[in-house]
Amino acid sequence: MNEEIREMFSFFEHKYDACVLPLNWEELKFLGSKQDQTCRFCQRSRPEVTFKKKAHAIPEMLGNRRLLNHYECDSCNQFFSDIENHLGNYTSFWRAVSQVRGKRGTPKYKKDLEIQSVDGQLRISDSIDSPSIFNNDENNEIILPGIRDPYIPVAVYKCFVKMALTLMPESEIQHFRKTIEWIMEPDHSKMKCPFGLLTFVQFTPGFKVYPYPCNWLFLRKETAEPTTPYSIYAVCFSSLMFQITIPHCECDDNFLAYLNKGGQAKIAALPSPYYENHPLGPSQIRVKDLSGADWVRGEKEYISISYDLKEEIISNQRNNPEEP
Ligand SMILES: [Zn+2]
Repeated sequence: MNEEIREMFSFFEHKYDACVLPLNWEELKFLGSKQDQTCRFCQRSRPEVTFKKKAHAIPEMLGNRRLLNHYECDSCNQFFSDIENHLGNYTSFWRAVSQVRGKRGTPKYKKDLEIQSVDGQLRISDSIDSPSIFNNDENNEIILPGIRDPYIPVAVYKCFVKMALTLMPESEIQHFRKTIEWIMEPDHSKMKCPFGLLTFVQFTPGFKVYPYPCNWLFLRKETAEPTTPYSIYAVCFSSLMFQITIPHCECDDNFLAYLNKGGQAKIAALPSPYYENHPLGPSQIRVKDLSGADWVRGEKEYISISYDLKEEIISNQRNNPEEP
């Protein structure tokens, strides 16, 4: 392990207690109890609300089919599935390249280029007269340019926070009442967060890097100085890892006071499971600001994928139906 990774791990080891929840269960697993169900998010119970729908702890579109929970009512479930559309749009290009299976099958991407999975292989179609793919044959790498579907950044961030709150131990959830109020606020410009919503995005080359999602929840140790936020959450899916800080936590009063006095919070990125040792190359880490409450349209994204074997097929087929 090199010095850089040792430092990244040591940040978490010294300051935080980790709660790890793998998601590769063979059978359905439920968080919470089916007895006396109360919704964790709106605090309502039967008969005011129902608990009939499958409530996924991590959205199904990210590849989670097994981990569900008993403490999310159908009405909150519907609200969250609406904000998850933003996460869906934000990640659709990546998920198409990584071929993550969701509720509606594997996502396809179809704009200037078309990406789909055919018999377990990734098929990328581009037109020969206006190619948009950049081929780097020396490094067995192709760079795909994509355009994101429209999304609101803070709504994407709220989706990650909602995952963290779903996994939060029962004894801790009381500290996040205001966080819950914030994610449930449909007007994303309201309840501004006390700090910017910066997200570490780690991309590992190759497709289907994470065959199923995995995630980590970190809570600051009682003995640690409040110079970093109380709770951090990281989740891996497709070829990506996102790491966020949970805002509006009542245990962050001292941390916010530290920031107000001019203190700086230095947060390390958690090295992804393949940070240095993926056969197709090291991961790249970027910081993405998801604080914006306005729609983002036409955002470009580039994905570089490495491959063992590339096969080129040239055809004169058009996507349009043939003229008679
Ligand atoms: Zn509810």
